[in-house]
Amino acid sequence: MRREARLPGKLLGKALALARMRTREVAVAVEFQPRLIETVVEEEVSFRPPGDAVRAEYRKLLERTYRYPGERRLSAARLVQARFFERLGWPEFFAARAASVRAPLRVWTSERDEGCSRTGPAPRPVIDLLLRPARFRDREALNRFLRHELVHASDLADPAFGWHDESLEPRIRERYDRLWCASVEERLRGGGLEPVTHAALLQRAQALGSPRCPVCGLPSASWTSPRGEVLARLRELAGPGASLDRVCDRCLEWAEVAGEPVGARG
Ligand SMILES: [Zn+2]
Ligand SMILES: [Zn+2]
Repeated sequence: MRREARLPGKLLGKALALARMRTREVAVAVEFQPRLIETVVEEEVSFRPPGDAVRAEYRKLLERTYRYPGERRLSAARLVQARFFERLGWPEFFAARAASVRAPLRVWTSERDEGCSRTGPAPRPVIDLLLRPARFRDREALNRFLRHELVHASDLADPAFGWHDESLEPRIRERYDRLWCASVEERLRGGGLEPVTHAALLQRAQALGSPRCPVCGLPSASWTSPRGEVLARLRELAGPGASLDRVCDRCLEWAEVAGEPVGARG
């Protein structure tokens, strides 16, 4: 669908309001940072050949904004850029992919960090998506990137996922992020039928972070120092090199049971 890119005589409101676009087909609010719109349009237009009609029209309209002083010139330029951003199909591109995210999405450029975050209280969250400008050069690659990121965004906006910000040790947070990414990929492949929740991911991240039993190799919440015969029995299992200062209660119970005369337990 083409829209006329004509600079209206009367300039509309503030620059940020101009960037607020709602596509007609999908009822998802996606808002773009004016700086992102400018960067993406400038770059995409500059990659077109010099005789290209869109490029020529864009340059001509931008040129006309110079007749306005200061702030009004900026608003006019933002408006031109917003029109071309729409014409290049970016709002539709995002809205179609963000349809599963049940919260308004704000898209920003960033030179460093990328990905989704959530602001706003739980009942009315807003998802911020940071993207490097270079992402916009290849729509196919951006599409793949968004497929993954927007599952994170859906999780963040979903009350059933139950995300909430909490202070975590850096290594736990790192593990949490890796587990969350893995669950996103699993769901994209059509697997992972169990519902994923923030609490379950966090519990797994914390379990992976806890020390492991030298006998069974599993994490544990309760430990005992084995002695005597029980220690000897565990030593046989763990091998001569293992440090058996403490073992998990499951292994300790097993070693105790294994040492009882046959038939002694019920
Ligand atoms: Zn991820
Ligand atoms: Zn164990």
